[in-house]
This record gives sequence, structure tokens and C-alpha cells, in this order.
Amino acid sequence: LFITLEGPDGSGKSTQIRRLSELLGHSGIEVHTTREPGGTPISDQIRSMLLNPENRAMTAKTEMLLYAASRAQHVAEVIRPALEQGRVILCDRYIDASLAYQATGLGIPLEEVRSINQHATDGLWPTRTYLIDVPSELGLQRAFAGRGKCLDRIEQRDLEYHRRVREQFLQIAKEEPDRIVVIDGTQSVEAVTEAIWQDIRRYL
Ligand code: C5P
Repeated sequence: LFITLEGPDGSGKSTQIRRLSELLGHSGIEVHTTREPGGTPISDQIRSMLLNPENRAMTAKTEMLLYAASRAQHVAEVIRPALEQGRVILCDRYIDASLAYQATGLGIPLEEVRSINQHATDGLWPTRTYLIDVPSELGLQRAFAGRGKCLDRIEQRDLEYHRRVREQFLQIAKEEPDRIVVIDGTQSVEAVTEAIWQDIRRYL
């Protein structure tokens, strides 16, 4: 079972992954939690390049390809092997994030990003995706409050960029209602966990 969490910056994905992993663990289910960009030593090196605020010269294409490269390594080294062992994978971001951040956010045609990621992952898509939706202003406020002034290279982009990303997440969710569940991320932490948990249980 391959589950991904998506959402704008400051939507609270990492907190939810932690809570869901505990719930799954308590139910005796072997779960592997991981995140993007990252999840393997090579992917983590790519993550540092992507998020380093000093890399101002990085082009949109380089950024999109680096996310896909990080993902290719992550799928081959961690996600596929764990799925083959029958484990549940909870992954913080995946291809949908590239469709929102790199395609719509940076203006790269959606179909190009989709097809490069199809290649990178050998067509591995999640079984279920929870999109934790928050208004961009609130998300950025939370990211800012959580990390002081150390926003990463992507978080530092303007509000318009983050609004395009959020709208695109919602659009993707509309196009794939069988896979993507939209959760209201302005609710309490407990209510968000509960909403996701009720749905995940159907797959266990
Ligand atoms: O999810 P997390 O906050 O760890 O992501 C790290 C950074 O990478 C965030 O600023 C996020 O917006 C950015 N990101 C991105 N494109 C992706 C995945 C993450 O711009 N495909």
C-alpha cells in the first residue's frame, strides 16, 4: 500500500505523517515513512541543492529534472523494495508535488512533467493521496512561524507562486477523485488525522 501526503507549504504534512505512522504502528502494521525530495543518501544530496537559497541561478528545467532524479533514486532504492516486502509506505510528497510546484508553479507544460516523472518512477503511482489544503497565506505564515527566517529556496518565492501551486493541487484532485482525497488543513491537528485515518483504514 503506497500512500502519499501532499499540500502547500505549512499544510502540516510532516506532523500528520508522524501521527499516522504511530497509529499504524499501534495497529501492528509495518510502515515505512519517507519524504521527498530526499529519502536516500543520493536523493538527500539532491535535496540540499534544490533547497539551498544560494542556488538562485537554478533554471526551471534543472529544478524539475532534479526533483525527478531524486524521485527516481527514491523509488528504486526505497519505495519499490519496501512495497515488494508488503510494507505500507507513507511518503511526504511525490509526483503530484512536481505537477503543482514545477509544472504550474514554474510554467513548464504539465504533460512534460508528467511524462518525465512517469519515466523516473517506471510508472509507480500511489494507491491513495491525501491533499491537505490550506490557503497560501496561512501556510506561509505557519512555515514562517515554525522556522523563523530560514525559509528554503522554494518557500521564499512570492505569494502568487504559492497560490498557483495550491490551485493546481486542487485541480489535480478534481481530475483524479478516485485517488486523491482533499482534507481541510485549517481544522485542528487531531481532526485532520482523524479524517485521514478513517479513510486509510478501508485499505488495511
Ligand atoms: O515538504 P517539504 O516542506 O519538506 O518540502 C521542502 C521544500 O521543497 C518546500 O519548500 C516545498 O515547497 C519544495 N518542493 C517543491 N517541489 C516539489 C517538492 C517540494 O518545490 N516537487
